[in-house]
Amino acid sequence: ARNDTGRTGEPVIRIADLRKTFDSGSIVACEGVNLSIDTEDFVVLLGPSGCGKTTTLRCISGLELPDSGEVVIDGVDMTGVKPKDRNLAFVFQSVALFPHKSVRGNLQFGLDMSTKLSKAEKKERVEDIAKMLGIEDKLDQKPSSLSGGQQQRVSLGRAMVMEPAAFLLDEPFSALDAKLRKRMQTEIKELQGRLETPMVFVTHDQEEAMAIGDKIVIMDGGVIQQIGSPYEVFNEPVNQFVAEFIGSPSVNTIESRLSRSSGGFVLENDLFSLPLDAELPAAVTDGEPVTFAIRPQYIHVAQPGEELFSGTVKLVEPQGDRDTVYLDAEGREIRAVVPQNTVAPEEEALSLTIEPDKFWIFDESGGRLS
Ligand code: ATP
Repeated sequence: ARNDTGRTGEPVIRIADLRKTFDSGSIVACEGVNLSIDTEDFVVLLGPSGCGKTTTLRCISGLELPDSGEVVIDGVDMTGVKPKDRNLAFVFQSVALFPHKSVRGNLQFGLDMSTKLSKAEKKERVEDIAKMLGIEDKLDQKPSSLSGGQQQRVSLGRAMVMEPAAFLLDEPFSALDAKLRKRMQTEIKELQGRLETPMVFVTHDQEEAMAIGDKIVIMDGGVIQQIGSPYEVFNEPVNQFVAEFIGSPSVNTIESRLSRSSGGFVLENDLFSLPLDAELPAAVTDGEPVTFAIRPQYIHVAQPGEELFSGTVKLVEPQGDRDTVYLDAEGREIRAVVPQNTVAPEEEALSLTIEPDKFWIFDESGGRLS
């Protein structure tokens, strides 16, 4: 229904150099935010509490006016335009349906004012969307007789009938129980593919972000740290913040230093020393303090002759198909993910090794060296 104007090259939403402060400038909620959102995008704004994701979404929606920067929707500068004139639809955590109206009445509410559609066309659109959401048999019921997930579907449907340029969703599933939440995540992703309308989804839950997003925007301190696919943010984090924020169980970090040796550099810490094959930036100095980081998935129980360091098993946490093992290595917690039932839960010393080339080195400010 949209993007059939023949316009090419222009994203559906473009945010340029957005900056928003509160309390006369003392709180910088977001800064230097640049983002392009295309028709096929499922964008997730992800980050810890207070990182600026909601403020960014509210600036897109028009609920918040940025201090500077612009918000362009379908090629039109909308920066100062009222929320209702932006052709965007919101879905929030709290459902806020009209309790006295039927599901049909709730779905149709946004269309009631429209003079563009005939009565029959409105009815048809509402019924199509109810079918798409699997609530066509609930149309004549009141919201109070629906389950939480069905109510959230009605609220989504109410946004869908408007055929907006994009959907903005602020933690829409955080009030649902874990199982239903998973199901809604699958449904919304599938729905987005069919609607061909971009979605911008705010969450602080990295597993939710990885499950639904194809473009994950990771924010910290009001600034975008990385934009990438789930694969990229997991496997190629640009800095230590992203490496630590993404992944469960979380990445292992070990304070280390780099020492120059004949062929290049050796990484050293109180557990092991590791000659490095990788090229390091020319500015790296001898003795430079760095952080060595490796995901638990890439620490393995060593075969004879392979040991890089050892650790004592503290806890084995079954994950179903694999186990997470918590080890103590020289007073440091090391997390490893191993095939199920390969490590006994006793306090046993294990020889460990790492998968080569699966680690990262970060400098003191968290920037990636290798
Ligand atoms: P959360 O997940 O907790 O909602 P968030 O990442 O969405 O966090 P924002 O709500 O965008 O973060 O907030 C970013 C920063 O701006 C925070 O420091 C917050 O306290 C501040 N902030 C947001 N809205 C306001 C406001 N209306 N007045 C003052 N400060 C605000």
